Amino acid sequence: TATAAAAMVWFRKGLRVHDNPALDAARRGGAAARLYPVFVLDPRYLLPDQAAPSPGSARAGVARVRFLLESLSDLDARLRRLGSRLLLLRARDDGDVAGTVCAALKDWNIGKLCFESDTEPYALARDKKVMDFAAASGIDVFSPVSHTLFDPAEIIEKFLFSFGKWKNGGRPPMTYQSFVAIAGEPPEPIMEEYSELPPVGDTGEYELLPVPRVEELGYGDISQEDLSPFRGGETEALKRMRESLHDKEWVAKFEKPKGDPSAFLKPATTVLSPYLKFGCLSSRYFYHCIQDVYRSTKKHTNPPVSLTGQLLWRDFFYTVAFGTPNFDQMKGNKICKQIPWTENEELFPAWRDGRTGYPWIDAIMIQLRKWGWMHHLARHSVACFLTRGDLFIHWEKGRDVFERLLIDSDWAINNGNWMWLSCSSFFYQYHRIYSPTSFGKKYDPNGNYIRHFIPVLKDMPKEYIYEPWTAPLSIQKKANCIIGKDYPKPVVDHAIASKECKKMMGEAYASNRLDDDKPDKGKSSNSS
Ligand code: FAD
Repeated sequence: TATAAAAMVWFRKGLRVHDNPALDAARRGGAAARLYPVFVLDPRYLLPDQAAPSPGSARAGVARVRFLLESLSDLDARLRRLGSRLLLLRARDDGDVAGTVCAALKDWNIGKLCFESDTEPYALARDKKVMDFAAASGIDVFSPVSHTLFDPAEIIEKFLFSFGKWKNGGRPPMTYQSFVAIAGEPPEPIMEEYSELPPVGDTGEYELLPVPRVEELGYGDISQEDLSPFRGGETEALKRMRESLHDKEWVAKFEKPKGDPSAFLKPATTVLSPYLKFGCLSSRYFYHCIQDVYRSTKKHTNPPVSLTGQLLWRDFFYTVAFGTPNFDQMKGNKICKQIPWTENEELFPAWRDGRTGYPWIDAIMIQLRKWGWMHHLARHSVACFLTRGDLFIHWEKGRDVFERLLIDSDWAINNGNWMWLSCSSFFYQYHRIYSPTSFGKKYDPNGNYIRHFIPVLKDMPKEYIYEPWTAPLSIQKKANCIIGKDYPKPVVDHAIASKECKKMMGEAYASNRLDDDKPDKGKSSNSS
């Protein structure tokens, strides 16, 4: 039977042992203490969905599901080395994660519950149920902020009181500069390394699952797929971070958006985003380690372009997302321009499935499907193309595809960047459009990136690789790729489509300005 000194650490994100304040608090329980490290498999993300256009659930593609399972295995192995283990539970009643946690709290007689705070709407609702149960049952709850550098709620409060007076009616800072000015330095990470953790208590009748393989979840044979080269887990995260930071000059000179979006064998950035997303890597620990490198170099770049600047972007989006009602939609979202995006039953699947006929765009979408990760500027290219650049399709549709297929899929960052790229918020220079042909060519004139992700174009001469429809038929034949048969013709003419998009954006902006002048602005749009 469990003792009253039992504590539970409930993992959701934060899949790590290092710099984990929830785990750190849960382990401090005195001599008789028992520690229950729990993770509940949430079918919302895990169960296969036959209707989804590639393996995975409606919420998570197979690459991310696999990344999560690898992260869980690694966490279990690291806990076992410290004399503990991960208790993996199946959600009861078809997906009631909160109910599963509450039942375990009761059955194991837990006195203290520790979990990392999570500001996503889905998590807030789930966690409230558990906190209400804990309060009614007299269980102590400790829920520290450790997914981000700063506490979004605290930043918003500081912003409110900035300049010594009430400002902005509780709105979050809407520019990076005002965010950075308020934020200051993040808290130091916990640097202590544990030699052991308290033993796990009795789990009674509970069925403890081994970490399943993706195939066991019903995804069928995925061995044929060219899957993501990035493996999940804290061990891999720390290794990857150390490798990135090893080249001190690279760290000191890091400057975004410079960097080659077509580099895929050795990406131009750290590819730590999926590890930060699942919390296999602590953002505070990463920040701290970058500062160490800066101290040992003569000069270094600064925010917003530096590597620490990127982590601040992440926190910026978390803060705005937390402080903005309906952040993940256009309607009823006060920071989002209202734009009459179109629906298009043919163009949207062509974009989603990498069949637009623009090799640069299609290669990026295929990399997304297979790897679940693309460079930031590659994301810019396809997001601009779908929305204000060429197709004039709603950013929410593109957001959904990214949300499902990215291994680093992150509610705050993804929605924020989609609003940015569609010129719906944060950034408004809609006349600046990425060319789907010449932008990629600047970095990769030979088209190696395209040849890798679209093998049917691998023998297309470099003169035509970005615009294969312009190749004479004899060349297409020689390259074994007939345009319109083996690879699609372009779905739109970029020169015409982009002009039309600019016109529609101009009109939409003008009508938003008119709306801004109305006295009841905001009230009437809060309908959804
Ligand atoms: P690095 O350049 O090495 O940066 C280090 C870390 O800083 C990243 O891991 C990430 O956590 C953070 N970061 C970097 N750029 C940004 C940014 N623009 N905004 C916020 N945080 C940033 N990133 C996600 O993590 N999840 C998403 O769902 C996501 N969706 C996006 C959607 C669109 C349309 C666009 C344009 C960008 C999106 N990004 C998203 C932001 C960015 O592209 C990725 O964070 C970055 O490419 C990840 O690669 P990296 O780890 O090598 O980044």
